[in-house]
Amino acid sequence: MDLAPPIELTRVNAFSPKKKRAKQRPPSSVIPGGAPLFQRVFTRLGCDGRPPRFRVEFYPYASLVLTIRRREDIVFVRFSDLLRRAPLAVLEGAAALLLSRVYRRKAPRGLVEPYLNYARSHRTRSRISQMRRGRVRLASTGPQGRHFNLEKMFGELNEKYFSGSLRRPHIGWSTRGWRRQFGCYDPGPNQILLNRRMDHPAVPRVAVEYVLYHEMLHVKHPTRRSGCSLLSHSPEFRAEEKLFTDFARARRILDHLAR
Ligand SMILES: [Zn+2]
Repeated sequence: MDLAPPIELTRVNAFSPKKKRAKQRPPSSVIPGGAPLFQRVFTRLGCDGRPPRFRVEFYPYASLVLTIRRREDIVFVRFSDLLRRAPLAVLEGAAALLLSRVYRRKAPRGLVEPYLNYARSHRTRSRISQMRRGRVRLASTGPQGRHFNLEKMFGELNEKYFSGSLRRPHIGWSTRGWRRQFGCYDPGPNQILLNRRMDHPAVPRVAVEYVLYHEMLHVKHPTRRSGCSLLSHSPEFRAEEKLFTDFARARRILDHLAR
């Protein structure tokens, strides 16, 4: 079942306010000791040649993101500023992760693990969600589409499947059509978005209802993951998903639409 619908398999770039950011030039700050740290890890991984010059800074991404890019002989690294207070071992782990990918070296597990544990911890996850509330803006679109009104639909589904108990998040259609996912719930801004492409007369209502129902289950079964990618679908979640009337039919329609 987990393999079937292409819901939430990829990141939704619609959420990343990159363009706006670039214009506003958010403050980044050089990490003290960041360059020597990268040089140390570079050597430890056995990367070929002399270590390049590194410029390492914290950057206010809307999630826990690490980026690395090379421009001429300088390697620019950006760590999410969530890592500002992280212990040294976590920063070393992050560096090892980045360098091992760029230089195709296998990073020792012990070196990377502190970062992975940090990234997966509940504490970090909840900090990400909290941060996103401030950094991710709600989509400017509302629930009323050309063909389907998601607000009305939410109310109906809420009555039918949740006894009206679900608190309504912000609901809207995506501003652009997404290629790979039908819907998304982002706990940070507490927002459900459905792929604009589904707001079409050729898409049966039951398919739209099913996607909205799926995202509503994410509201009911919160995870601490932020963003909409790879939210976990627990066995309880999957069981409840099947309570949807016309479940099989809706899934068939989505499979067809995904082609
Ligand atoms: Zn999901």
